Amino acid sequence: MVSFYNPVRVVSGVGACKSFTEIGKFGRKAIIVCGKNSARACGALGDMEALLQEAGVEYIIFDKIMQNPVVSVCDEGGKLAYKFGAAFVIGIGGGSPLDASKAVAVFAANPQISGNALYDYPLEKRNRALPIVAVGTTAGTGSEVTQYAVLTVPEIENKRTYRDTDTFPNLALMDPAYTYSLPRRFTISTAVDALAHAIEGSLLKSSSPYTDGAALEACRLISNALRQIKEGKLDEQVRVDLLTGSTLAGQVIAQTGTSFVHAAGYMLTYFRNLPHGEANAVFLADFIEFSRKAAPERVAALLAACGVKNARELEELYAPMMELDFELGGDEVKKWAAIAFENKNNGNGLRVATVEELEAMIGESKFRK
Ligand code: NAP
Ligand code: ZN
Repeated sequence: MVSFYNPVRVVSGVGACKSFTEIGKFGRKAIIVCGKNSARACGALGDMEALLQEAGVEYIIFDKIMQNPVVSVCDEGGKLAYKFGAAFVIGIGGGSPLDASKAVAVFAANPQISGNALYDYPLEKRNRALPIVAVGTTAGTGSEVTQYAVLTVPEIENKRTYRDTDTFPNLALMDPAYTYSLPRRFTISTAVDALAHAIEGSLLKSSSPYTDGAALEACRLISNALRQIKEGKLDEQVRVDLLTGSTLAGQVIAQTGTSFVHAAGYMLTYFRNLPHGEANAVFLADFIEFSRKAAPERVAALLAACGVKNARELEELYAPMMELDFELGGDEVKKWAAIAFENKNNGNGLRVATVEELEAMIGESKFRK
């Protein structure tokens, strides 16, 4: 059985946010959820404020979202939105503020829920989340078209994903011009995150013809863009292709989920502070090689779409442009492998890794010093 659901209206291209004229339809009061600097610096916050003022929508700004946001900050934003009487939530930023805006939308509609109860509160007693508008400023996570809010939960020393059908954004406004100010490190790491989404989403039990085409096109767009960046070219077309590819890849994982690449990557982010895309880059080629036995033709099609002959050649496309340099100890490898094994993502794979196979892949990571 196959099911496909993606209710997000996507408006993408230069001027997508600035020229949007229907923001007033979401209600008379909004909360903007963003980080301290980049939403302002890239111009997205200013454009959205102008839209809201033009439409006569009252708004407040909650700009406390850090990278890999923690649940408690989203709770704080939700309580603020509730007090203000916000009718909708506008997330502006990369995956961190966009994911946070989804949790804020749940907390705002449910002042009876606090902190980690977000995950366990009975669905039938929960009000629907407020409507969400996502304004992306990175080209990577695809969060603008997914129902996932990936949040850090310090109590479990890991990240945990909240998801429900009402945490899909209602609208995604994606302007490639906002990504111009991204530091090179994040341009590369977010692109590789999107590439990982397309590849992982194609090699899972939940993969289907509804998502396979989007995944192949995302692979083609992102790999070509990475090739051009490597050759020193990062023009508007490359930015457009990265953004289109990342949204397509987000549409894929919204249906399929991800694999052990993400499960193991969360460890590198939590314990080594690696940006999300860099953490995934460490395990992506291993995952492709590992999946080959279960789906040789599918792997061949993905590699062909990326324009490479094998997984190591693909890795050569991105790894030299990344800051991958860390050490892992023996106990740590065992602990991370055990956690990644328990993570539902690992079980999603067409070929499911044993804990020993995960230990080998995590331990043998060739990016170690
Ligand atoms: P991010 O954590 O949102 O942002 C990374 C850094 O880039 C931040 O310092 C941010 O600054 C800065 N930045 C963002 N846009 C910028 C711009 N246009 N110009 C200059 N700087 C900019 O990065 P991300 O990779 O997009 O998101 C990663 C998060 O998304 C992780 O928590 C990950 O788990 C999650 N994720 C979610 C999904 C999903 O489906 N929901 C999928 C994959 C990953 P500020 O701090 O000032 O904003
Ligand atoms: Zn990701």
